[in-house]
Amino acid sequence: MSTAPQAAPRSGGLLGSAAVVVLVALLLAWSVVDEWRFASQRIGVLISQDEQGVLIEDVEPDSPAERAGLQSGDRVISLEGRAFSTLEELDELFDRHQQPGGVLRGEVARDGRTLPIELEPGVPIDLAGLLAKFVLVAAYLGLAALASRYRRQDPRARILTLFVALVAVELALPAGYTLGELAVTGTLLFWLLSTGVQFAMELHLVSLIPKRLPLLQKRPRLVWVYYVIGFGSGFLLASAAVYQWYLAPPDGPPLLMWTETAVLVSWAVSVAGILAWQAWRAESARETNQALMVLAGLLPWAVYIVVSSVWPGWSRIDPALAEHIENVILLIFPATVFLAIFRYGLFDVESLVRRGLVYGAVALLVIILLYTLLTTALPLFEQAFGLRTSQWIVTACALIIGILFRPLRRGIERLVERGLFPKRRALRHRLIQVARALSTQGRLETLVQQLADESRQALDLSWSAVVAVDEAQDGLTTAFSRGIEADRRERLTSLLHERSRAFGHLERLRRPVTVNRLRRQDEQSAEELAAIGAEVLVPLYFQRRMIGTLCLGRKHNGELFRREEIELLDLFSHQVATSLENLRLFQDATYEELTGLLRREVVLRQLDTEAARAVRRGTPLSVCMIDLDHFKSVNDAHGHLFGDRILSRVAGVMRERVRAVDAIGRYGGEEFLLVLPETDDEGARRLAEELRQAVADLAFEKPDGSGTLGVTISIGTTTSASGKDAPERLAARLLQRADEAVYRAKSGGRNRIIALP
Ligand code: GH3
Ligand code: MG
Ligand code: MG
Repeated sequence: MSTAPQAAPRSGGLLGSAAVVVLVALLLAWSVVDEWRFASQRIGVLISQDEQGVLIEDVEPDSPAERAGLQSGDRVISLEGRAFSTLEELDELFDRHQQPGGVLRGEVARDGRTLPIELEPGVPIDLAGLLAKFVLVAAYLGLAALASRYRRQDPRARILTLFVALVAVELALPAGYTLGELAVTGTLLFWLLSTGVQFAMELHLVSLIPKRLPLLQKRPRLVWVYYVIGFGSGFLLASAAVYQWYLAPPDGPPLLMWTETAVLVSWAVSVAGILAWQAWRAESARETNQALMVLAGLLPWAVYIVVSSVWPGWSRIDPALAEHIENVILLIFPATVFLAIFRYGLFDVESLVRRGLVYGAVALLVIILLYTLLTTALPLFEQAFGLRTSQWIVTACALIIGILFRPLRRGIERLVERGLFPKRRALRHRLIQVARALSTQGRLETLVQQLADESRQALDLSWSAVVAVDEAQDGLTTAFSRGIEADRRERLTSLLHERSRAFGHLERLRRPVTVNRLRRQDEQSAEELAAIGAEVLVPLYFQRRMIGTLCLGRKHNGELFRREEIELLDLFSHQVATSLENLRLFQDATYEELTGLLRREVVLRQLDTEAARAVRRGTPLSVCMIDLDHFKSVNDAHGHLFGDRILSRVAGVMRERVRAVDAIGRYGGEEFLLVLPETDDEGARRLAEELRQAVADLAFEKPDGSGTLGVTISIGTTTSASGKDAPERLAARLLQRADEAVYRAKSGGRNRIIALP
């Protein structure tokens, strides 16, 4: 996601930019002159024309008109000795006559009388308006410059640059108060045509955000349709304007306004529609976000268009203010496009957009409902029930709508979630499943391994690892998924063990963090973790104790983790930590420390259970007693520590060879008990022989370095004859017979198996 600015733009681009800047500067200078001349001519009245002539509708306070004593309702009869009855004549008079500072003499009619007036035109220049115009034009030019510097090969950047530059030129155009008729018409026609072109450019732009529409991918030439539509709209607008100004009767329909409304509304609807469709079909949440962000930037514009063309009250707003509002709203769209294309990823807009969408939609629905209720239902109720009752009914309805707000919001939220963010939903689903799968019984190592593998799969990562604190085994249990090789495993373990700096920082932060975020606390560890390819660290907390770290590698698709994913991981980590801790408690109570086999009392309990089952079902049950041969002498010759290592290893070898349903436990110091459900004497003997052989094959390096040492085991086996005993008697008898068998194996020479019935 490099956003490095490109090298120097080509000379053509440079020339083009220079031309735009010069043009805009000239237009702005012209605007200043225009505004200055206009201000010097203004007398501060609002006039209209009807059958009886020119009527003064309104007089601005503290204006030349007010100082001259003009009032609304006056009719202008003559100025400077010339009678006139139309606005055109008045315009002409101003155009020819005006000299700054001059005095205009004339007559007005008021209440049937004729009054002389003396006007001294000239108001202060609208500096605030000019300044706003400069700032806005500068903002657009700046955006054009930014967009043109980023990734010139990105077609979206090129369209955005052209679009923004065109709007800058359009905004820099003089208002045209004093330009003369031709220039005014020219300016307006340019404005209307450029509206059409902007329409086309926006359609083109949103068809590429986040990616080219499938139809355009197949037929890139179809993009001309946009420009045909755009130029067509511009031409339609210009024709409507020309017709209305020059050809239609003065009291004809407001054709230009209608065309304008039609074009602007189709603009808003089609651009928003394409964006919504793009968001809907986007393949990743990131792309959905890009499209949604631009859509959110477009919304103010769409709302503005609808409000200004549908709401009658809009015409009462000060036109200068309305223009500023329009211009600022216009700027929001390219700004969000810019952010979406180039800067997206700096901040997480997803939840913002989602919440905005949901609340916006609900609020709109509620407002529409209320509005409908008030405008249509209220008069109906009034007729049916009288005013008083109907007020109550409407209040009750409003209350019901208010109560519906929450469920409505939740419903829409779910809809938006399902429709727009199916990936995140799926992710949450998978994490829940992983957490659930973990909470089943098993061994700690298995669970930790499962956590590493499943989290890698669920998040589609290159790798995932768990470094957990473990009091039993050197203080650490580690597990690594596929995709991370031995040397990185070692480095990761040393970076995240219990006494590491990173562990300490995570312990304080208490929540998942990106490695990038860890930099603030611990530059060095973060650097090394990043070098391994680690992306996110999830501390596993049980109650107040941190029991390990889940470390996530990069995503396969190269995307960064989003805040919401990290929040999901936080929830997930608590569930995982609880599973881990439960399992640890279970394990401590079940398994013996040195050998990892079942504790004596557990394997004996298992024997009771299996004996009961064997009696119930009439199935055979075998028991083996295993004792290491001459183990005392091994201890005496090489020390207890060496003896312990042998014990642990022998136990491991045996554990590997028994079935999952078998129970193997440490019965005494170097004696083991093996319970084999549904196993007859033959099966027991075979397994015993396999174990004997496997142990006999082991070789241990002697601690003094004088070669290797082997050990042997003696095994006594016995099998229940089905259905003969009561369960509690069966368990005791099997134990006693196995003991006897192993005793006989010892006396028979050791390293052998004796089976007793
Ligand atoms: P055999 O069974 O062949 O008759 O001879 P043995 O020397 O193995 O005799 P026995 O089974 O009676 O001896 C038990 C010995 O095992 C005593 C002790 O030295 C050793 N032992 C028992 N528990 C442990 C243990 O946890 N660690 C170590 N290192 N040795 C143990
Ligand atoms: Mg022994
Ligand atoms: Mg013994």
